[in-house]
Amino acid sequence: MPKKRKLQPYAFDLADSEIRRERQIARDLRESQWWKRRLAKGVCHYCGRSTPPKELTMDHIVPVSRGGKSTKGNVVPACKDCNTAKKQLLPMEWQQYLKRFDQPLD
Ligand SMILES: [Zn+2]
Repeated sequence: MPKKRKLQPYAFDLADSEIRRERQIARDLRESQWWKRRLAKGVCHYCGRSTPPKELTMDHIVPVSRGGKSTKGNVVPACKDCNTAKKQLLPMEWQQYLKRFDQPLD
């Protein structure tokens, strides 16, 4: 069991409830027609590869844990590869990863 630090309990609680709220909004957004239309396009926002809609996941460009909001401007469909990479890479490495896709795709 990880021990929770008791530093700044107030700030921690505030962020925690904020995160829960944004995740709930994201769940609602996932049910929306807007999101279903985005999925239907079947394209990963990051690498631009066509991906079957059922393999696309909702990704927050700015993660909720970093203060990102569940708004239409901050959630994008991402393929499994990009989603996994984004979770595992440091922010700087993630930027490098994205640069690979800057070149226009044929
Ligand atoms: Zn991708």
